[in-house]
Amino acid sequence: MNEPVSGPPSSSTFDERMPMSMKAPSAPRYDFFGVIQRYLDEAAKVSAVPEHITTILSQPKNEIIVHFPVRMDNGEWRLFKGYRIQHSNIIGPYKGGMRYHQDVGLDDCKALASMMTWKCSLMNLPFGGGKGGIKFNPRSVSRAELARITRRFFHSLGSNIGPTYDIPAPDVGTNAQVMAWALDTYMNGVGIPLKQDALGVVTGKPVASGGTLGREKATGQGLVHCIREWAERQRLDLQGKKMLVQGFGNVGSNAAVLLSRMGVSCIAVGDHAGYLHNPEGFNVHRLKQYVEQHGSIAGYPAGQKISREEFFGISADIFIPAALENQIGPAEAEALNVQLVAEGANGPCSPEGEAVLKRRGIPILPDVLANAGGVTVSYYEWVQNRRSEQWTLEEVDEKLEFAMKDAYDRVERFGRAHNCDFRIACYGVALSRLAQVYSEREIFP
Ligand code: NAD
Repeated sequence: MNEPVSGPPSSSTFDERMPMSMKAPSAPRYDFFGVIQRYLDEAAKVSAVPEHITTILSQPKNEIIVHFPVRMDNGEWRLFKGYRIQHSNIIGPYKGGMRYHQDVGLDDCKALASMMTWKCSLMNLPFGGGKGGIKFNPRSVSRAELARITRRFFHSLGSNIGPTYDIPAPDVGTNAQVMAWALDTYMNGVGIPLKQDALGVVTGKPVASGGTLGREKATGQGLVHCIREWAERQRLDLQGKKMLVQGFGNVGSNAAVLLSRMGVSCIAVGDHAGYLHNPEGFNVHRLKQYVEQHGSIAGYPAGQKISREEFFGISADIFIPAALENQIGPAEAEALNVQLVAEGANGPCSPEGEAVLKRRGIPILPDVLANAGGVTVSYYEWVQNRRSEQWTLEEVDEKLEFAMKDAYDRVERFGRAHNCDFRIACYGVALSRLAQVYSEREIFP
């Protein structure tokens, strides 16, 4: 969430009592968890993983739901609903982001938590998968309210999180500042002698509060490494190419800035407030600064307003979805006129959208690999916290580049060996590692 959160509280602040009329009345619910399950089933078939392993991994270990009251600036009390889904800790502590968004719900957290299990396993990290969040719109509360909501939420989670048990991080609607409040809340709950051991309870912290250099751009950076790997294999020079970016928060803006340094120009961009087109290419550094100050791209002077439909039809080379799940359905996939879809967001392509992209021969760099740079650098942060070290940016960057290239190679090899697409290959590599752990350690008791 790259916007200042201060400002007057809105009377339409979301909470449990959000009127249904604010939602699209006829939109059927997208079964995100079901979609991820089907990828898992497909990958299990190609990698011949025993059925009982996929049965175990088909549901999260723990589903935690908390309700907690928060005093708003106007003196009213409001009840919030928070989630923490812990999918698997067979390889290590649960790990995954906390999302603040009006659409956060149990099934979506389950989908995102399970994706974290596949991501951590694929990247050979010593973590399992978790995800959570609060169902409210963080743009509609003041900075002070956001701090109280965060502190009360993390207090409510109590010992359900911990530096060797479950380690949250930022996701949509949360950022380094939110992690700093979360850390401070947790630290103050564990007792004075354990305070310093608590530093690794969250990652994505501000650097001065125990964060790592390179975390803020890490997801975008990892995405760019994957795009470069793909381009090299196509013998495609990225210099002079054009991109479309949907979502200009942490992932989208950092990816755009890093790609612009490689000569890729961003000719259209969109976020929750609308879409802009600039055939000459945006100055993405300036646009990023603008979004950090104003909370969205709305009102940015350089660029022409376009509709969402027009955005998807613009001819370019690379499309980076970096907003939310289920953004590329069949209509968007038919409209896209690009050579590559690089998934910065989790689950941006629906299966129907993906089928259209496949038919049209447009390759996808799948989320589980393409946006794994974030959790990889979160791991580096956690290691630094445990060792009381501070690595240089060069060290972090070098390790991340190696990790992304290595994962890309392993996925490619798996796909070739098992004759499956890149997404199923990601799940296959991840699942094979988990299956091996289960077969070696066996299932308790
Ligand atoms: P963010 O809150 O920083 O940015 C989200 C962006 O999406 C904003 O620009 C917002 O305006 C835009 N957006 C929201 N709703 C939209 C809509 N309906 N249409 C178009 N745009 C919309 O979040 P982020 O951290 O950049 O996360 C973006 C995606 O990347 C999510 O799917 C998240 O799970 C995934 N992801 C994030 C990280 C990370 O390190 N932050 C790591 C891996 C994956």
